[in-house]
Amino acid sequence: MTALDVALAEFQAHFPGEPDGVWEAPGRVNLIGEHTDYNGGLVLPIALPQRTYAAVRRRQDTILTLVSAGMPYCPPISLASIVAGHPAGWERYPAGVLWAMAEAGYPVSGLDVAFASDVPVGSGLSSSAAIEAAVAVAAPDLFDCGLSADESGRAELATLCQRAENHIACAPTGGMDQAAVLRSREGYALNLDCADGSIRHVPFRIRDKGLALLVIDTRVEHSHATGEYGQRRADCEEACDRLGVAHLAELSTNDLPAAMARVKSPRLAQRVRHVLTENDRVRLAVAAMEANDFVELGRLFVDSHASLRDDFEVSCPQLDLAVVTALEAGALGARMTGGGFGGSAIALVYEQALPATREALLTAFEHHSYAAPKFLVAEAAAPARRTVVPCC
Ligand code: ADP
Ligand code: MG
Repeated sequence: MTALDVALAEFQAHFPGEPDGVWEAPGRVNLIGEHTDYNGGLVLPIALPQRTYAAVRRRQDTILTLVSAGMPYCPPISLASIVAGHPAGWERYPAGVLWAMAEAGYPVSGLDVAFASDVPVGSGLSSSAAIEAAVAVAAPDLFDCGLSADESGRAELATLCQRAENHIACAPTGGMDQAAVLRSREGYALNLDCADGSIRHVPFRIRDKGLALLVIDTRVEHSHATGEYGQRRADCEEACDRLGVAHLAELSTNDLPAAMARVKSPRLAQRVRHVLTENDRVRLAVAAMEANDFVELGRLFVDSHASLRDDFEVSCPQLDLAVVTALEAGALGARMTGGGFGGSAIALVYEQALPATREALLTAFEHHSYAAPKFLVAEAAAPARRTVVPCC
């Protein structure tokens, strides 16, 4: 059964009658530009073919009844009861979206929703933004609430989803994930400038070049709602205070030597160096992709990983092993992706080398007694949207 079939079956099992419709949102993988989003910098994610489906029906009251295949039961939620930290389980992500809409003044009502997903959860591929956006993208269709599914409406939906994640799920993430799943375009990477929310679509059709983007899920579960991610943000905020800027990405690599001296802390100097050099790498990556220079893109991946590992200190042994092994197997480049502390790595490999690269990774992980990694091949897929289904 596909995830779409499961969502429809879950709806039928839990709610009488048919849903009003089904909406879907992708996971995402970031090509480059890590921990730059909350620093007002540049990111370059793609939307994945893997998706979270939401079969949704509008209710006449203000109760949210949510079920998700394979996830724990959650009791019905009154919209008025949603606050930071409540509800506490997985349902805080979709509930948070309704909270953010109501808080922004949009009229919302209760919903019955059945979710099912083939986006790996907690793997750095943004299953959290996928479940948020699957609900958000239904809003323009279900509520007569003034939200639209055009480009400006999607930017607003992305902001609302980020508010849900920050304020209700209490995960202090930047805006990349929500923009990636709501504002990407099939066949393109999304070059988002987090300073002003402006976007540029950069062609990413590497199959034409005999290349593939291998996503290596290390199976080390990370969580953005836990401390380390927040600590990196706090480091960046402290560096901003000492440097007298609102966001680190206001500075360029030309400012780096002076900025590193002025923060008066080796740790903060490293954080600043990562953010400024990473932001520069995104610019170079866009230029490389536009010039079809995938050797250069691979080199930038390698530099990005080193910077995240050594300066930002968000890698882990499994991510490092995935990167080293993929490179030894002939990848043009490889790096950890997502917030770090586990989750996934990506490798830019020749399509014909995919089987040998996977094999090398399985062998290396087994040799270190790590859980076997999981793989998927990423393509730049369509953003969140209504799913065309015969029933509704
Ligand atoms: P990531 O976004 O990288 O997958 P996060 O820790 O940010 O990791 O988000 C994962 C959390 O999002 C899960 O623990 C769960 O609470 C919620 N979640 C994601 N997808 C689903 C889903 N299909 N059903 C229910 N909850 C989900
Ligand atoms: Mg997430």
